[in-house]
Amino acid sequence: MAIVASGISLAFDIELRVIMDDVQSVRQHLLDKLKSLEEKKTILRAPELRDLYNKVKDQPEDKRAEFGQAINNLKKELEDLVGQSSDSNSVLSDIDVTAPMDINSPIPQLIPTENGTTHPITQETEKIAEIFYRMGFEVSESREIDDDYHMFTSLNFPENHPARDDYDTFITEEGLIAPAHTSTMQNRIISARKHLLEEGENIAVLAMDRVFRNEDLDARHEHTFTQHEGILVGKDITVGNLVATLKLFFTTYYEEDIEVKITPFYFPFTEPSFEFSLSCPFCSDGEDCRVCSGERWIEMLGCGMIHPNVLRMAGVDPIKYSGFAWGGGVERLVMIKHNIEDIRHFNSGKLKFLRQFK
Ligand SMILES: [Zn+2]
Repeated sequence: MAIVASGISLAFDIELRVIMDDVQSVRQHLLDKLKSLEEKKTILRAPELRDLYNKVKDQPEDKRAEFGQAINNLKKELEDLVGQSSDSNSVLSDIDVTAPMDINSPIPQLIPTENGTTHPITQETEKIAEIFYRMGFEVSESREIDDDYHMFTSLNFPENHPARDDYDTFITEEGLIAPAHTSTMQNRIISARKHLLEEGENIAVLAMDRVFRNEDLDARHEHTFTQHEGILVGKDITVGNLVATLKLFFTTYYEEDIEVKITPFYFPFTEPSFEFSLSCPFCSDGEDCRVCSGERWIEMLGCGMIHPNVLRMAGVDPIKYSGFAWGGGVERLVMIKHNIEDIRHFNSGKLKFLRQFK
């Protein structure tokens, strides 16, 4: 046992000696360098010294203190040599304490700064809002915290109906909900503007905001994303108006002449309900397309004619008025536009990703 123990301690000593040799060789190098320097004090900012400090974190945990101390000793020795001891009141170079410093660097260095830009999703929501604004829609926001009534009841989800399970999101102990869709605004938007209908005008509103889902995250699913919600209510509004409105929007947004199709679907708050698809703007004849996997159609959003119960709960007579609504993900629009393969990039905070959208 004694042999093994001494073997281990010998190994540690060798390890420490190798580490310290590193400091010694840098010391010798800097002392040589100092002789030829005109401005002696610049030796304190030598990259070799900084590199030594950077190496501290790479050392075995039990060696870091000794290694760090050896570097501090070397620095002190150099300071004494150039007459700039940190113990004396000699002049130190100015440091702007308000500057954004790299606190991980032993010698404070300014972090390179650049002008920031708006997030790509903000840039695109502004473009989307602009297009609908020009089409006569009022632009508003949704809410990032809401209640059961607006999330479900006002949208014709009966209590305990299994359709509620499709909107699995986050709920506080007090019963407040992080909305799973921007449709939470339908009741508010319609009831606050129902006087417009009596005045012979339409209600036309676009609502956009973040929504939340309890998702298994992957390249196509995020727990937090952005939705655009459109509502139009008036006299004699039909599915034809819905399709024409969305077709005009997508054609404008993608700057392409786009074909659209609707496929029957189910939502409790619209009847009839549809999935809305676009002809793939990236398919060229005879080529396999990554975006649509050769399907030639891309499913973009859910939509339909607003359910009579939803209109009634907002105080609008569904016999006299009708309307359509849609809800879709902004990230999906942007991913297709810029060929982005993973939705998680948007909330990642990765500068490499974000800087592409300057
Ligand atoms: Zn395609």
